[in-house]
Formats: sequence, structure tokens, C-alpha cells
Amino acid sequence: MFCRRCWIDFRAGEHPPVECSGPCGRRFHHRCVLVPGEVARVLRGQDSGGLEWYCHNCRQLYRLQLYFEVATDCTIRGISYL
Ligand SMILES: [Zn+2]
Ligand SMILES: [Zn+2]
Repeated sequence: MFCRRCWIDFRAGEHPPVECSGPCGRRFHHRCVLVPGEVARVLRGQDSGGLEWYCHNCRQLYRLQLYFEVATDCTIRGISYL
């Protein structure tokens, strides 16, 4: 399984890859798509709290803008769609 941005394999022990919630379903290193590690972990966890992440292409497609607000205690405060 490769990151669709840098084409480098996902390695064990890293933060889990972030997967696009859009139709493409592509996976990326969270660093490659500027998603904080805490957010990546929540996205891949059992309880994502309805949090979704869309890749650049899908964002263009849906005209979505996502805002991650990560508090100091590593919980996600809010997410907004434009
Ligand atoms: Zn990558
Ligand atoms: Zn996508």
C-alpha cells in the first residue's frame, strides 16, 4: 500500500495513513497531506466522531474546506464545511 502523494510505502509503527472519505478512497501519509497526527489517529480509530477527511481532489470536487482544530489535549474540537 503506497501513499498516493509521495508513492512511498506505509511503514509499520507510523501514524496510520489517512484515507480520503470521498469517492477516490486514496490513502496518504498524514504528513504528506498536512493532517496532524492526532487527527490521523482519530480518523482511523473506532470512534471517529463523524470526522471525515477529503483529499485535495475530492475537496475540489465537492468544494469542501475542512478545518481541523486540535486542542492541546489532542482532542478534536471542531470541523466545518464551507
Ligand atoms: Zn506520503
Ligand atoms: Zn479523495
